[in-house]
Formats: sequence, structure tokens, C-alpha cells
Amino acid sequence: MPGNKITILEELKLPGGALDGIKEPKKGFVIRGGHEMEDHFECLWDLFRSIPSLEVEGASVLDEFYWLNKDDPNYSLQRATIDRGQDAHTDGKFGLSEKAQKDIVKVFLATREEMENKRIDEVFGKDFLESNFWLYWRTMFAFEEWHSALEMKLYLHRFIHHIGGLPDFSALKFTKYNQYESLVLPLYTWLLDQGVTFHFSTQVTDVDFDISADGARKQATRLHWVSGPEGAPGDGVDLSENDLLFMTIGSLTENSNEGDQHTPARLDEGPAPAWDLWRRIAQKDPAFGRPGVFADHIPQTKWESATVTTLDEYSLL
Ligand SMILES: Cc1cc2nc3c(=O)[nH]c(=O)nc-3n(C[C@H](O)[C@H](O)[C@H](O)COP(=O)(O)OP(=O)(O)OC[C@H]3O[C@@H](n4cnc5c(N)ncnc54)[C@H](O)[C@@H]3O)c2cc1C
Repeated sequence: MPGNKITILEELKLPGGALDGIKEPKKGFVIRGGHEMEDHFECLWDLFRSIPSLEVEGASVLDEFYWLNKDDPNYSLQRATIDRGQDAHTDGKFGLSEKAQKDIVKVFLATREEMENKRIDEVFGKDFLESNFWLYWRTMFAFEEWHSALEMKLYLHRFIHHIGGLPDFSALKFTKYNQYESLVLPLYTWLLDQGVTFHFSTQVTDVDFDISADGARKQATRLHWVSGPEGAPGDGVDLSENDLLFMTIGSLTENSNEGDQHTPARLDEGPAPAWDLWRRIAQKDPAFGRPGVFADHIPQTKWESATVTTLDEYSLL
């Protein structure tokens, strides 16, 4: 499809969503979300195979990434610390007893249905939850004992090939700069070159659907939005059966809040436009899912992350 037929609406003032690592004057680096990456992000790398690098002429973003990680592979000399910086001596070991190993195999082989609506600590025993493996896993993938057992199972399947790289982070790969500069900017630049229109400061509030009596066919007929002074003109657009509408419903970084060395981040419980849009759509047909599963339990699903901005070369060492 020609780029000039594509319009992207975004509530923020810049592209990239959760991939927003940016240096803000006086604050340092602010990173609400991001990707620890690995070599089997098939879709991501396939996309960036065709996106030109902004720095190396004739190379793609994938080339840049591949060369960097070949040249400077990621690994950690000290995976976990205790007592404010002392080596926790996990020493590359998983610490899995026979019982804990059996728990892993059982979850791995279980059907999805067997894991549905269960917590991790309902399917893993004490041995597993006290192991180094669980420490590596939960600190890498942000899992808590009360999180979904099904999600845990799916992650085990997805990252099974990286088990060996868990104890020293060698499973992971990174971009040269923040993901905003290394991934978002090249893609954004390329899309602009193709004639794609971006409207920032534009919050999509609802979508009208024409739903057939048997519910089998659902056609989006109108998009509604509210926009700031620099956002999309008007308050919406009619859609025909020849239009394609793609939505990113919900967002991990929606309602995020920043703290600093002296101020804790404030918990912002709403309104949350990304989730509210999904809630409104979900009321129109059960096939649009149940956002409440993800968004209605803030104390259990909120998370906090910290970014260190180093000020000199010495502290980087
Ligand atoms: C702290 C943290 C660590 C992470 N670590 C990893 C990791 O190690 N590996 C990994 O693969 N993933 C990781 N992730 C997840 C990853 O960042 C996200 O899954 C990914 O960025 C999601 O991309 P997305 O485009 O689907 O959604 P988003 O990046 O959330 O983008 C959605 C966009 O849609 C916009 N939007 C939503 N609703 C509306 C609306 N109604 N109107 C207008 N605009 C709207 C939002 O503003 C946003 O820009 C992490 C996330 C976080 C927060």
C-alpha cells in the first residue's frame, strides 16, 4: 500500500510508544518501557532488515544491530547482588532441586487450559520459588508469584532456547543507543519518506462498528478522537469497507509516572485513554476481549523500574 494512504494517530507527542528511551535535559535518561532483545525476534528483525540505518550508508538497522552484537556481545560479570552491591554468588547455577525440575517440566507440558486462571505459586512449589532459576527469571521478565501461570508457561516455551544464557544475561542483545534512537527514529524517518501521515497529540476515544446479526462480521464505520492544537483536524473520520484499521489497544506504559532520586513516582489510576478505548470497544461485542483481566487489578499489575544516568566515563566502567 502506498505510504500516502496511511495515517497514524498517536496520543503522545512523539512516536515509539513504550520504546521511548530519551535524554531529557536536567532529568537524564527516561525510559518507561523497552525491549530486552534476542536473536529470535523474527518479526522485529524481519521488519528492520528493510529499514535503512541512519548512520551507516547502505546498511539496514538489522545489519547495524547484528554487527554491534557480534563485536560487543552482552553478558554480566555479576548477575545478582545483595547487601548494597555485594556479590550474591549465584555463580551461574540454577539451584533447581529434582522437585523444582519436575515442576518446570509439568508446566511446560501442561495444556493451556490446565494453566488458565492460576497463579504461578499455584503450579510451582517452594523449591522452585526459592531457586536461583526463579531469581534469574523473575528479574529478567518481571514476573511475580501471583502473576499468571499461563503467561509463565508461554514464556517458558518462547525462551526455552535461552535457558543457558539466563545466569549471565548472554541470552540478551541490545541496540547501540536507546531504542528510541536506534529503532523508532529510523522507522519513523522511513515511514515519513514513504509519505505516511502522523498525527500526534490525538487521542482515539471510540470506534463505531456495524455488527451483523450473527456477530460474524464486524466493520468499523467511524473513528472518534479528541486532539490537541497540533493534533489531527476535526473529531473523527468515517470508514468504509475498503479501509483497514489497526489498533494498539491497551498499553504497558499508559499512565506511567516519573519519579527521581528524591521523589517517588505517583500512582496514576486513571483516566487511561488506551485502556478506556478498549473497554468501550469490548462492550460492543464479546469477541473484542476482556480488558479487565489486564487492567482492573492495579496493585497486582503495576510495576516500577529504575534507570541510572551515569555522568562520567569512570562510572560507566
Ligand atoms: C519496563 C518495561 C520493560 C519491558 N521489557 C521488555 C523486554 O525485555 N522485552 C520485550 O520484548 N518487551 C518488553 N517490554 C514490552 C514492550 O515494551 C511492549 O510490549 C511493546 O513496546 C509494545 O508495543 P506496542 O506497539 O504494542 O504498544 P505500545 O508501545 O504501548 O504502543 C501503543 C501506542 O498506542 C498509543 N495509544 C494507545 N491507545 C491510544 C488511543 N486511544 N489513542 C491514541 N493513541 C493511543 C500509545 O500512546 C502508544 O504510543 C517491556 C515493557 C516495559 C514497560
